[in-house]
Amino acid sequence: DAKGKPQPIVPPATLAVLGGGQLGRFFVRAAQELGFRVWVLDPDPNAPAGRIADRHLVAPYDDADALAEIARHCAAATTEFENVPAEALRALARAIPVRPGADAVEVCQDRRKEKRFLAANGLPYGPFWVIESADDCAAVPPSAYPAILKTARLGYDGKGQRSVQTSDALLSAWESLGRVPCVLEKRLGLAAELSVVLARGVDGTAEAFPPGENVHRNGILDTTTAPASLPEAIRVHALDVALRLAAALDYVGVLGVEFFYTDDGLLTVNEMAPRPHNSGHHTIDACSVSQFEQQVRALCALPLAPVRTHSLAVMNNLLGDLWFAADGTRREPEWERLLALPGVALHLYGKHEPRPGRKMGHFTVTGSSWEAVRQTVCAARQQLG
Ligand code: ADP
Ligand code: MG
Repeated sequence: DAKGKPQPIVPPATLAVLGGGQLGRFFVRAAQELGFRVWVLDPDPNAPAGRIADRHLVAPYDDADALAEIARHCAAATTEFENVPAEALRALARAIPVRPGADAVEVCQDRRKEKRFLAANGLPYGPFWVIESADDCAAVPPSAYPAILKTARLGYDGKGQRSVQTSDALLSAWESLGRVPCVLEKRLGLAAELSVVLARGVDGTAEAFPPGENVHRNGILDTTTAPASLPEAIRVHALDVALRLAAALDYVGVLGVEFFYTDDGLLTVNEMAPRPHNSGHHTIDACSVSQFEQQVRALCALPLAPVRTHSLAVMNNLLGDLWFAADGTRREPEWERLLALPGVALHLYGKHEPRPGRKMGHFTVTGSSWEAVRQTVCAARQQLG
């Protein structure tokens, strides 16, 4: 990396995004809106972002030819998927700016590294035990239970997790996850879950969106209410932790930080995502700048936009389950009824195939009073069945 101020990258330069899911699709939209061209690397020919990209390279993330082509043609690269091999990011970074960098992404890819990083930087996290052997299982104290066993890598939407009620059940739970490295977390009593999405630039300045409050169903994000109506002290604390975390990671780009607010009033970091976050989707419709435009700006060493929230918002995820009637037959949700409601913004990701539990889209309800927003959310959910 050259010393001094990184040069801004300006339109119509070509940017690359590794990963072609919905997050990548929104990045492509935001970058194209600013006049950039965008290439997507994703092995899935039906990847939602690939369809709208200027070019879709259909190849694995560590494909040497694809990475070389990106290095040759693109001015900078980012990622929308935290499981891109860190080595691929390192290889690209020898030729073009890669933001966030491989080191930061690597920490967020592995729950063991994540928690050790939080510990090393004096940031709050919940009780956990690393499980890499049968001996590790035997060494967990009884105070850990009830607990949740999570694979250290590759988990998302509650996948790769097992509930473990007592110490007798740990070994078989670990075996059912394929004996891969895991962390065991004490199950915390949650008063609320919240998240902070922030953007941090090459110069270390940061712009955070106000914390949102998240409700999960079956381990999958269901709704985000933003700004969160939690006590001011909690919101300030969450923002402070998220900003310190981003600085400690030397982070450049958009970072999502998930928090637990426990029944006993503690705020702990659950996990980090080195990319825009599902709980930041409302920023498209409720803020002066979206998390995806901030991602473009941070990647290109352009000024970050100051964040102004102009509406109250509830973001509702649309899972593939909605495409199936109670008897399992395929159906199309009644979009025209949803769109008839005031303040509804619908975003469908253009995914090839609906599947139960799969994120197919979301809708955000915005308004100027919580009463009106909540009423519309209720009506919308009724309409969709
Ligand atoms: P994912 O990577 O799938 O998002 P998370 O670790 O965020 O995995 O877990 C998904 C959800 O499961 C959390 O948002 C929370 O609702 C619940 N959960 C996870 N860990 C704990 C815990 N230690 N105590 C209580 N609830 C938890
Ligand atoms: Mg999570």
